[in-house]
Amino acid sequence: QQHKKVLEVIQSDPSLIELTVKGWVRSFRSNRFIALNDGSTIHNLQCVVDFENFDEALLKRVTVGAAIAVTGHLVESQGQGQNVEIQVSKLEILGDADTEEVKLTILSPKRHSLEKLREQAHLRVRTNTFGAIMRVRSKLSFAVHEYFHKNGFYNVHTPIITGSDAEGAGEMFRVTTMDLKNVPKNDDGSINFKEDFFGKETNLTVSGQLEAETYAMGLGQVYTFGPTFRAENSNTSRHLAEFWMIEPEVAFNDLAANMDLAEDFIKYVINYLVENCQDDLAFLEQRQQQEDKSKPEAERSPMPLMEKLQFILENNFKRVSYTEAIDILKDSKPNKKKKFKYLIEEWGADLQSEHERFLVEKHFKCPVILFDYPAKIKAFYMRLNDDKKTVRAMDILFPGIGEIVGGSQREERYDVLKQKIDELGIDEKELWWYLETRKFGTAVHSGFGLGFERLVLFVTGMTNIRDVIPFPRTPLNAEF
Ligand code: ATP
Ligand code: MG
Ligand code: MG
Ligand code: MG
Repeated sequence: QQHKKVLEVIQSDPSLIELTVKGWVRSFRSNRFIALNDGSTIHNLQCVVDFENFDEALLKRVTVGAAIAVTGHLVESQGQGQNVEIQVSKLEILGDADTEEVKLTILSPKRHSLEKLREQAHLRVRTNTFGAIMRVRSKLSFAVHEYFHKNGFYNVHTPIITGSDAEGAGEMFRVTTMDLKNVPKNDDGSINFKEDFFGKETNLTVSGQLEAETYAMGLGQVYTFGPTFRAENSNTSRHLAEFWMIEPEVAFNDLAANMDLAEDFIKYVINYLVENCQDDLAFLEQRQQQEDKSKPEAERSPMPLMEKLQFILENNFKRVSYTEAIDILKDSKPNKKKKFKYLIEEWGADLQSEHERFLVEKHFKCPVILFDYPAKIKAFYMRLNDDKKTVRAMDILFPGIGEIVGGSQREERYDVLKQKIDELGIDEKELWWYLETRKFGTAVHSGFGLGFERLVLFVTGMTNIRDVIPFPRTPLNAEF
């Protein structure tokens, strides 16, 4: 569309459009055609140089990776692949890039593996793949804020350093004010490590939920969207030690309203991308199809990327209780040869990711909202059902991803919550403020946490979570 408009203008009077473009050289063919990219789009701008008019020494410095500025008129392109190109009248080198040294990096113009790109995380945004992913990630972040603001939510910045461990999973990074270099050593060289923050035990937040809940009980509808930390000492393709979480929390919403909110939200942001990131998504779709060619059948993406996004927009998420899901799993025949081996489960067990993927990818073939989980496998703050066995929890499971959302209606009854905290042996002193919100005008409320990177994985068709965040933090990727 934009190209067409530009074309119309320059056809009416080509001399009208003279411009200067600054960017990085992607390729320089025949001493004549520079492919220039300034990061704003997946498309390179073709710059045509009449080399007779330029100093040879200057042209030698137009190397892959160099930063340059070109000035010239936009003209209709005779070549294929672009409508317009720039006829260069002035060329300036802003930053050189030594060809021999570039060859040793991922900037060299050939296909590099994603593993290789991860090792050079500081350069990978200059590749087509990462340019596209990071533009999509940024637009998605904007869509998140837009959705909530359009729907009357307030953005709350919950603390990063906190005393609470909302999930009770013990995956916290401790914070200390100790000067580790000058701390007195024991005889055996060890130190008496004090995990404290000016005298109080604290950690990096694993979720902003508990704090967000208190704000929902005053502002009504709030959301927090910030970095979250979990000491996940494993190397899966779905877990990072630092990731971003989107957490809305709404007063007077029950579990069903919470599901509606989550589904509406996900569809809104995906639709936003379909409307605003066409070029990047088209590129990522092509890229995925290329990758698929080298994969065994079972690992290939079942649908092209755009079709998959459209499918999400057009279909309702299937709502299934945990108990129904267990029945389905019990009835399914184990298939030792294929991907899904262990389908039989007993009521009360936590679902493994292969169970979740079976339900989504084989059984229902659409996103699934599982709800009413056994209380024993969920966090302390979830609303106990009348059966006293299950809680009003929900997980949203996505094809190719597994769990993308974890949410619940929160326990609003002071006595029930207090009893639960006591039962689990959680120190009540740590949560006095949380309990107090149940004393003064308590109300039904609910919310969820959506892992931003898992959503980026889904919309870009990438398969490793390390490839959808600028600098991944995992046990293996910590050097940046
Ligand atoms: P999982 O079962 O995948 O470990 P979880 O149940 O531990 O996730 P929750 O505490 O429910 O995670 O967090 C809410 C959401 O945050 C998850 O649904 C997921 O989208 C995301 N998430 C959780 N842990 C991570 C992680 N280590 N890296 C990236 N995203 C995560
Ligand atoms: Mg986890
Ligand atoms: Mg989980
Ligand atoms: Mg969860």
